[in-house]
Amino acid sequence: SEEQLRQAQKMEAVGRLAGGIAHDFNNLLTVVLSGAERLEQKLGPDRNLKAIQHAADRAARLTGQLLAFSRQQILAPRALDLDAVLEGLQPILLRILGEDIELEVLPTSSLRKVFADQGQIEQVIMNLVVNARDAMPEGGKLTLETANVDFDDRYARDHPGVSPGPHVMLAASDTGFGMDPGTQARIFDPFFTTKARGKGTGLGLATVFGIVKQSGGHIWLYSEVGIGTTFKVYFPEIRAGEQADPADPEPAVVVDE
Ligand code: ADP
Repeated sequence: SEEQLRQAQKMEAVGRLAGGIAHDFNNLLTVVLSGAERLEQKLGPDRNLKAIQHAADRAARLTGQLLAFSRQQILAPRALDLDAVLEGLQPILLRILGEDIELEVLPTSSLRKVFADQGQIEQVIMNLVVNARDAMPEGGKLTLETANVDFDDRYARDHPGVSPGPHVMLAASDTGFGMDPGTQARIFDPFFTTKARGKGTGLGLATVFGIVKQSGGHIWLYSEVGIGTTFKVYFPEIRAGEQADPADPEPAVVVDE
């Protein structure tokens, strides 16, 4: 749709701009950091120099995140089972969530495969899980669920951004503090964050949006203040021509008839 195209173009422009700035900024930070180090060697330990180093270190981490966001990653899309990806990630997810948040994972029998890069799918899941955790500072429950879902032509026509046909859904539902409609309208914007300074970059959901769009999918959001939030991410089922798998290679020589 128009709105989604605009969003994708904005993402790309911001990504390019951010990458350029982050790169130059990183070089400047190197000068600041090495200068502070040399001064410290000359003058001995100093509170102000420590503060400079601390701030420069934090700035370097932030520019590192910006660079990662804007960098063109090398993608290796292949046939993926989202339940298998979820299972593989589970130990990390449990560590992210901590003791006060219960995790329930509900897989689907005969889940369809999607055609995607595993690293990108893991990024989508981790970003949703980190946000869910941050929305439940007092603890709660996160449910991760998959399903096979079909959209008919009529539904797709009535819902901009939805492609018709078989899809795989990944849902993340939390019992966190939720979002008001004004917040919901902005969450996919790059750099939009409500988190405390230094905690959020506002790039998590912008990244999720980019990855899901790129794979031809879409995102559905339901959130209520004080109740919780559900993100449903839909990926189209893998298509016939996309099954190519290193384990099952194409014939190297094609004989022209
Ligand atoms: P960041 O996590 O760095 O703030 P994101 O793009 O991931 O950036 O999220 C943007 C904002 O969307 C968050 O700051 C928060 O206000 C809101 N948000 C995202 N997920 C949730 C959630 N599960 N519950 C409540 N608010 C959320």
